Amino acid sequence: MPKAQETILELDLNALTHNYNYLKSKLKPETKFLAVVKAFAYGSDSEIIATHLQSLEVDYFAVAYTKEGVNLRDAGITKPILVLHPQVANFKTIIERCLEPSLYSPRILKEFVKTAEQEKQNDYPVHIKFNTGLNRLGFWHNDVDFISSQLESTTAIKVKSLFSHLAASEDEKERDFTLIQIEDFNKISNDFESKMGYKPWLHMCNTSGVINYPQAHFDMVRCGIGLYGFGNSAKEDKNLKPMASLKSIISQIHLIEKDESVGYNRAYKAKGFEKTATIPIGHADGVSRSYGNENGYVIVNGQKAPIIGNVCMDMIMINITNIDCKEGDEVIVFDDNFKASDLAESANTISYEILTAISQRVSRVVSK
Ligand SMILES: *Cc1c(COP(=O)(O)O)cnc(C)c1O
Repeated sequence: MPKAQETILELDLNALTHNYNYLKSKLKPETKFLAVVKAFAYGSDSEIIATHLQSLEVDYFAVAYTKEGVNLRDAGITKPILVLHPQVANFKTIIERCLEPSLYSPRILKEFVKTAEQEKQNDYPVHIKFNTGLNRLGFWHNDVDFISSQLESTTAIKVKSLFSHLAASEDEKERDFTLIQIEDFNKISNDFESKMGYKPWLHMCNTSGVINYPQAHFDMVRCGIGLYGFGNSAKEDKNLKPMASLKSIISQIHLIEKDESVGYNRAYKAKGFEKTATIPIGHADGVSRSYGNENGYVIVNGQKAPIIGNVCMDMIMINITNIDCKEGDEVIVFDDNFKASDLAESANTISYEILTAISQRVSRVVSK
């Protein structure tokens, strides 16, 4: 890959294939794989990522919002797409674009049935979400009676799957809680089956669930972060390859004297004669202001250069006093070696946040 000549997010599809195959190797051959490509495929590019995964014969996709599903359909994605968090206002579009809604509350279920009937649908595929402890979205166990009575009174929809979401699948200390979530989900699905006389697919695991709870793989798993190269633990990170690299370039170098300041509000003051570089990436590109003032660093010719002063909208300044470099040299914000998860730690956050924050004005480039 040639050196970056402006700020780019480089996407390595071989790494994506590797991560997909690694996660699949954790599953029984018959377990289906749903790829979570919400939020621009975790800040990368949902069209490029979903097209590649579709070519690898992934079984299913999921997005958070309806609009994300519409974008995938416009991009030629033909596999089923689960919309995790639809709103009533989206239901007609969902049916028009063959998207499959998660129905997560009595209000949402009733309204979707109404729309499906108006649109003269028969057995339209839907997915019922149960809350087993995350207390975010989902029906409660004692809603099963209500759900079955609604289902029995219509032919417009058909339940394709029941699912739930783990609250702490990456956290060994919460193992007991997670096991109770799994047990509750089993009870809910048995209850549903005995009332309805058929068993939809079941799914519960995200990436860390796939790794830590093989007994909860059920019929399908839903992986996001693992596909993009992060396993939520040092051990699993070794088996995965970060798919996205954020690269930039040195626009200008300044030599400054002791006590001269750098950036807005004069937040940094030179401790002596120093060399600084200005990089074309700022908080509008996804490098949060919490990275300024020597929290966080970028890599210049293999060496760590701390981010000094306040992060600007379109730029950061870095200290390169002891680094051999020149204007036009490449700068690595993160890649498969200096990982997004390490950078995230310096601002007290997680890989998910730094990846999904990369704004749309950064060009996405598939590495060759
Ligand atoms: C985002 C999301 C996932 C993917 O989780 P990862 O930890 O990224 O694998 C799975 N299921 C639901 C319901 C989600 O919202």
